[in-house]
Order: sequence, then structure tokens, then C-alpha cells
Amino acid sequence: MANLLYDALFAPHQGSERPFLHLEDGSVLSYGAFLKLAARIAHVLRDQRVAPGDRVAVQAKKSPEALALYAACIQAGAIFLPLNTAYTPNEVEYFIDNAEPRLVVCDGASRAALAPIAEKAGARLLTLNGDGGGTLTDEAARKPERFDTVPCRGDDLAAFLYTSGTTGRSKGAMLTQDNLLSNAKSLVEAWRFTKGDVLLHALPIFHTHGLFVAGNVILLAGGSMIFLPAFKTDEVIGWLPKATSMMGVPTFYTRLLDDPRFTKELASHMRLFTSGSAPLLAETHIAFEQRTGHRILERYGMTETNMTTSNPYEGERRAGTVGFPLPDVEIRVVDPETKKVLPQGEIGVLEVRGPNVFKGYWRMPEKTKEEFREDGFFITGDVVTIDKDGYVQIVGRAKDLIISGGFNIYPKEVELLLDEQEGVLESAVIGVPHPDFGESVVGVVVPKNGSVVEEEKLLSVIHDKIARFKQPKRIFSIDELPRNAMGKVQKQALRERFADTFRGPAGGN
Ligand code: AMP
Repeated sequence: MANLLYDALFAPHQGSERPFLHLEDGSVLSYGAFLKLAARIAHVLRDQRVAPGDRVAVQAKKSPEALALYAACIQAGAIFLPLNTAYTPNEVEYFIDNAEPRLVVCDGASRAALAPIAEKAGARLLTLNGDGGGTLTDEAARKPERFDTVPCRGDDLAAFLYTSGTTGRSKGAMLTQDNLLSNAKSLVEAWRFTKGDVLLHALPIFHTHGLFVAGNVILLAGGSMIFLPAFKTDEVIGWLPKATSMMGVPTFYTRLLDDPRFTKELASHMRLFTSGSAPLLAETHIAFEQRTGHRILERYGMTETNMTTSNPYEGERRAGTVGFPLPDVEIRVVDPETKKVLPQGEIGVLEVRGPNVFKGYWRMPEKTKEEFREDGFFITGDVVTIDKDGYVQIVGRAKDLIISGGFNIYPKEVELLLDEQEGVLESAVIGVPHPDFGESVVGVVVPKNGSVVEEEKLLSVIHDKIARFKQPKRIFSIDELPRNAMGKVQKQALRERFADTFRGPAGGN
């Protein structure tokens, strides 16, 4: 029996001298060398009694070895479980208790903190540092460079990715070999990736974007990656002339646009820039085109569904939209109350069905059931509308919906209005507790460089632009919106920070 994912992504490159990873220090790792490393690591996994279907939890800095550990897990039939490097040992304890991995791989610096946690869960522990050193690679160095690939079926699990979970506990999204492979195939085709591509990779590899969207697409196409540990503007500008394509989160693009060295000439040879994981402001999309002549291709997806929609490679890439469903993906927009499918143009919750959609949440059958409809559609929780040409526009998250005095307010609409105002760089709109209305609308704005945003003035300019119930009752200026590693605005943090706005003696409205 075959191992679908390994056979498609990795096996074709066995023994190849072609470059796979271009590293920060200028060295190049060939496909052949990468796969030998992965095979050696697969032997270590077997030595550690990692059997097919066992979880391998990994909290390691981005490195070729960390990526080879992913390949090794696939080759050995194990489930790869990458963890955000920012998680504290306390948070990691939850994932280890929940996932019950056979093996934990962590940075040497976290060893002392994680060893007792791993031991308690009956897991073994090896280390892997950012420079590729550690007990995992020490052991791997003594192993043979060939490993007999463990057979796997398409619906066997390949990875668990814990959702970012801004409310409640994180859930382990179970992704099958088919989920990953079908999506990689769709994206290679949709975005025209080939062997000739050199992808500038500055994303983390513990998340679906950097690991699967970027990594699997390049592996399937046989291209190579400029594999940078993190996004640093200087470095990215230095490497850009060697790349053909880049996948980024919106902050990559705003940072590049902030730098005068990022010019049309520097980007002229590029084939493709994509953006996702968080909304790309239409303003950034337009400024990017003015600067470089390139239209960023924005796409949308989530851990549970892989990629769902994409703007077209050929055809109009429309600012402020995430494009059309990928060919094998079905979508519909549903009224969250009545559960009825809404006609085109209305706002509702996006539901998705297709080979890209995950198998369920690990050991949470009830939660899984709640988030799937009986006919197999997954309820994304993203609030969207589809325009008359079929472009999907994300309006917000269902959980970010503000209900004030019984009226529903979609923050995105208010944010777009605030963003248009003079002196405003960007904004976030949240609901905070209010004694009368249940919740009330608060705007948080980041002023443009050198500007000051006056609350009274801003409130008066938007006064006649939207219905009164949607207007923020207060607007606060802050230096920077809190964002996670993927560039998503952390609305929960803002809700906590401004929770007392209408409470207590100084509150009221
Ligand atoms: P994650 O599971 O961490 O990838 O987060 C998925 C969520 O990110 C989605 O449910 C959306 O809310 C958001 N997201 C991803 N791509 C986009 C995009 N292009 N525009 C707006 N939101 C996005």
C-alpha cells in the first residue's frame, strides 16, 4: 500500500540534487539531502516507539530540521503536531495532556520546563534547537539515510493543528492526508506553481499558512524556498531579487510599503504575491499596486478547512475580497438564526464542504457535531457576503458580532468607515459591556504617522455616515493594534482592555 502524501510531496524528489531550501547564511539544501535527513529522523521516531497514528508534538524554532521532522512524521505514518513557539510551558501542558503524544520535541531552552510535563503524560522528550542541533538530530546523525515509508490511506491523519482559540480552549483540528494533498493540488494549479518557482518563505511553520499552503505547494510543484527564520524587512528586501513569489500575511505588505527601498524595480521580476490569514486592507492592496504594478492575490482559509477561496491568477484580483471558491470546494451563506441559505448579496455565516475540510476536533465529538451541518457542511463562523460577480467578502467573525440594544453590528462595516477618515491608519471595532444596551460599540484607531486623531472630531465626521446604533460611542487612539503571529487583530485583548469604558463612576453614556 502507498502513503499518498509522502508519495506525492516527498518521494518524487528522492536523490535529487535540485535546490529545496535556500538558507539565511547563503547555503542551499538539496531535495535529496533534505529527504535523507527526514529518513534519519524517521528512524529516530521508530526508536522512540512512535507507531503509525501516534502524535509527535513539536515546539521548535523554524529550521530545515524542523521541516524535516514534518516529512519524517509523514514517512513514518505519525501525526505531526506543531505548536506555536510563543506558547508558554503552561499552555503547552494543555496540548500535551490533550493530545497525548508519544514524543515531544522542544527547544533545548525549554527542556527543563517541559520534561516533567512530558513525563507526566508518558511521552518521551527530545530537543531540537533553532540551529538544528539537539538530541533529535544527534541521534538522527547515527541512523541510515533510507527509511521504508509506512503505508497510509487518504483518510489517515497526517497532522493536528490546534486552532488559535480566542474564546474557550484550543481545539485540535484533525487533518487527513487527503485534506492536505487535495488542497495542495488545487493551489498549485490555481496559482500556477512550477519547478521554476523560488518562494520567499518568512512565515512560521507551526501554522497552516507557512506549513501547508507554502510548504506543501512548493513540495508538490518541485520548486524551492528562501527559508527565513522570520520576517525582517531588511532581509526580505535583500532576498527578493532571488525570489519569484512570496506568500505573506498583511503585515508583511504594510511593512514593505513602509520602506522606501521597496520599489517597483525590486519587485518587477516577481510572478506572484499572495496574502491571507487576516484581512488585507483594500488601501494596502491599492497602495501595493501603485508602488509595484502587482496586484496582491488575496485568498482565504482556516486551519480546519485549509484554503477555501482565492482571487483568480488570471482575471481581476479584487481588493477587499477573497475571491471565488477553489474548484473542488462548495460554499454557501447561511442565516445564523434560521439556518436557511441566503440569497446572493445578503450577509451571513459561510459554510464549506469539500475534500479540504478536516475530519473533526480531537476527542471533542460534541464540539465537532455542533460545527458541522448534517449534510457535511462545516460552519466556519466567518461572516461574509458574496457580490454579484461571485467574489466573497469577509465581513467579520460571528463571535465578533456586536449586539447593541438588540441591533446587530458587523464591526467590519464600521472599521472600513473609520479607516477612510483623515489621519487614521487602521482601526478595530469591538463591543464592550454597557449597562443599558448590553453591549456598546467602541472604536480603537491607530493614527497615521505624525497624526493625532481627536475623538470628538472623528465622532462628528462619521455622524451622518452610518446608522446611529452602529456608531462607536467612544473612540480611543492607540499606537498599535495587538496582533498574533499571523497578523490577526486580537479583539479579545481589546475587549478586555476597554471592558470598563461604560462601567463604574466614570462610565455612562
Ligand atoms: P487560522 O485557523 O488561524 O488560519 O484562522 C482562520 C481565520 O482567519 C478565518 O476563519 C478568518 O477569520 C481569518 N482569515 C483567513 N484569511 C483571511 C482573509 N484573507 N481575510 C480575512 N480573514 C481571513
